[in-house]
Amino acid sequence: TLQDRLAATFKNLRGKGRLTEADIDATAREIRVALLEADVNLAVVKDFVAAVKQRARETELSGALNPGQQVIKIVNDELVEILGGETRLLRFAKRPPTVIMLAGLQGAGKTTLAGKLALWLKSEGRSPLLVACDLQRPNAVNQLQVVGQRAGVQVFAPEPGNGTGDPVAVAKASIAEAERRLFDVVIVDTAGRLGVDAELMQQAADIRDAVSPDEILFVVDAMIGQDAVNTANAFAEGVGFDGVVLTKLDGDARGGAALSIARVTGSPIMFASNGEQLKDFDVFHPDRMASRILGMGDMLTLIEQAEKTFDAESSAKAAAKLTGQGGEFGLADFLQQMQMVRKMGPLSKIFGMLPGMGEIKDQINNIDERDVDRIEAIIHSMTPAERDNPKIIDGSRRARIAKGSGVEVSEVNGLVNRFFEARKMMTSMASGKMPGMPGLPGM
Ligand code: GDP
Ligand code: MG
Repeated sequence: TLQDRLAATFKNLRGKGRLTEADIDATAREIRVALLEADVNLAVVKDFVAAVKQRARETELSGALNPGQQVIKIVNDELVEILGGETRLLRFAKRPPTVIMLAGLQGAGKTTLAGKLALWLKSEGRSPLLVACDLQRPNAVNQLQVVGQRAGVQVFAPEPGNGTGDPVAVAKASIAEAERRLFDVVIVDTAGRLGVDAELMQQAADIRDAVSPDEILFVVDAMIGQDAVNTANAFAEGVGFDGVVLTKLDGDARGGAALSIARVTGSPIMFASNGEQLKDFDVFHPDRMASRILGMGDMLTLIEQAEKTFDAESSAKAAAKLTGQGGEFGLADFLQQMQMVRKMGPLSKIFGMLPGMGEIKDQINNIDERDVDRIEAIIHSMTPAERDNPKIIDGSRRARIAKGSGVEVSEVNGLVNRFFEARKMMTSMASGKMPGMPGLPGM
C-alpha cells in the first residue's frame, strides 16, 4: 500500500526542519503510483503531484508528525480541497417547485438515483414528484414507476405504453402539474446512451431550456475510471451541470473518477450512490473519498488525532530533557507524555494503526489500559520532588506512595524500575541511536 511504501521512503528521515528535494521527489513518485492505481486521469495526476510538491516545499515539518505522515497530510488536504472541501447541499428555489434535472450516460444510475433522491427528500420533509423524460428505452417509464412506488412518491409520465411521447413536452407539463398539486421538488429523469451522443445531448439541452432547473446533476458511474474526464467534459459542454453524483461506489473502484471530474470541471460532488437499494445513498463526503483514493483511512485518523492532541511545547521540553538539555526527564514528564498519547485513544488501537507494527501485535494486544490508570494513580501520589528525582524514592517513601494510591508496594517498585529503563531507552531513541517509533509524540 501507499502507506507501507511511504513508511519505507521515510525510514531514515527524522528531525529535519524541512523535507529535502530528494525526499519530496521520492514521495511524489509514490503518490503518483497510488493515484494512477486509483484510476485518476493522467493529466490530473501530473497536476496534482506538482501542487503537492509545491506545498511540501513550503511546509515546515511539524513536531506532531513524522515526514511521511506530514506528506500524507498534505496530499490528503489537497485532495479534500479539490473534492470540494465542505459538502455542498442542494439549493432549493425560493418559489417552489425546485427543479432537479438528472443527466448522464445510460446505465450511470440516473433512474435509480431519482428514487433515492426522492426518498431522501421525503425524509427531509419535502414532497417530490418524479418525472419520466426517458422515453427512449421501451421500459424506462415503467422502471421509474417501480422506483417511485418503492420510494412512495408520485411519478409523472405519459400514458402507460406510450413510449414515443415528446420528453420536452412531458418535462414542461410536469412543472404545471407540480404547481397544481403542490409538489415542492420536481426530479426530472432523462435518457442517456452508452456513449456521448449529439442527438441525446441536444434533447437534454432542450429539456433544460423548457424547465430551467435549479440544479442539473451529472450522474456518473465511479467505475468508468479514465473515461470520466471525457464524459464529464462532454456533458459540461452539451448540457452544463451544477453538481455531480457518483454512483456504484459500492464497487471496488478506488474513486479516482471523483478526483478527475472534480478537478477538470470544478463542480462539486454532491451525492454518493453505493448500492442498488434505495437506502444506499448519502451526501458526498470529500474527506472519506480522499482516504478511499489514498487507501489509508486509518493512517489519516491517526494523523488527525496526533495533531489534535499533540502539545508541541511540552513535547519539545521532554525531548530536550531526554537529550540532556534542560534538566532531567522525570516522572512528571513521563506521565505527561503518557497522557498525551493516551488522549489519542486506546493504546492498543494506536499501535495497531501504525505501519510496520505487525511483529509486535501480540504485545500490543496485551497492553492493559487499567495498568496505565494505576501508573497515573501512583505518580499522582508522589511529591513533586519525587517526580523530578525518582532516585530519592526509598523504601519508606514507596510504602507511603503505595498507601496513597491504593496499590501494593511491589507495584510502586515495578513502576520506578520501569521508568528508569524507559528513560534509558527513550534517551537513546531521542539521540538517534535507535530506530524509534515514527514520530509518535511521547514515545
Ligand atoms: P440509468 O440508465 O442512468 O437510468 O441507470 P439505472 O438507474 O437504470 O441503473 C443502471 C443499473 O445500475 C441498474 O441495474 C441499477 O440497479 C444499477 N445501479 C444504479 N446505481 C447503483 C449503485 O450505486 N450501485 C450498484 N451496485 N448498482 C447501481
Ligand atoms: Mg434511466
